[in-house]
Amino acid sequence: MTTRRELDCLRAVYEISSSGTAARLVDAATYLSVKPPTAFVMLDRLVRDGLLEKRGSDYVLTDEGRRQAEEVITAHRVVETLLYRAGFSPNEACVQARKFDTSIPYEVVRKLYDFLGKPSQCPHGKRIACRGEFFV
Ligand SMILES: [Zn+2]
Repeated sequence: MTTRRELDCLRAVYEISSSGTAARLVDAATYLSVKPPTAFVMLDRLVRDGLLEKRGSDYVLTDEGRRQAEEVITAHRVVETLLYRAGFSPNEACVQARKFDTSIPYEVVRKLYDFLGKPSQCPHGKRIACRGEFFV
């Protein structure tokens, strides 16, 4: 069972690597607003759990790590869309969604997604789409 902190850490690696740069310790620490030794403990645990691989000084998502990161990001975008429609600005919706998007069961995200009419984008214009059982 991956903890909320670990999911945040996986999200950090996912977001950093999808911007085209390798995810290193310092980048993950900056993204998570923690000190590098704290980030190291989290990253190291994810490597032991098989969710990340360490290649030199870069952290790379394994298939399972990527799947879990994508679930969190989907949860984030769905909740953000809900909050935006409820009246929050896109940025407020983002900040609020970050407080609990790692705690929402996948079935709830899926229901919300259907309830919202299967939105294709979050309020920032990032993609939300179905992909088999999971949607990213
Ligand atoms: Zn956001």
